[in-house]
Amino acid sequence: MSHRRSKRKKSPNFYCARCQERLWRLGSPKHFLFYQEASDIRVNLKVPRKNALLLAAKGICVDQKAWIEELFCSEHGKVWMLIRKQDDGTFTTIPAKSKDWERTTKTLDPDVPNPSVSEFTYRMSRRAGKQSTNLRTSQVWES
Ligand SMILES: [Zn+2]
Repeated sequence: MSHRRSKRKKSPNFYCARCQERLWRLGSPKHFLFYQEASDIRVNLKVPRKNALLLAAKGICVDQKAWIEELFCSEHGKVWMLIRKQDDGTFTTIPAKSKDWERTTKTLDPDVPNPSVSEFTYRMSRRAGKQSTNLRTSQVWES
């Protein structure tokens, strides 16, 4: 158990968006956000339009300053927070919404329960399941 302490950088403090309590890091993986549209890149990365168009042309653009991480609030328990690093070095934390998850690679640890995401994937899989059922029914009708 040796933690590297070569660079003693002050670790940032995060605060709960609901109760303003200090949030504790759980060592959860960071799920970085990415953008595909030039307009999203421009707004979120605060780059000029030309740079945004260039980045978009290269494909997926990962935002190194925005990610979803699981934190612990003494009041609310485990919470998935969307963390953004500001230009002045401070961080904003807001509860992650399903639209934020859609912008991550969604490589979630299956052992980590996450209601918002499973609900989302559940809906998607249900929709896909319905489609295949319809296909099967039409095949039955045809034969
Ligand atoms: Zn809280």
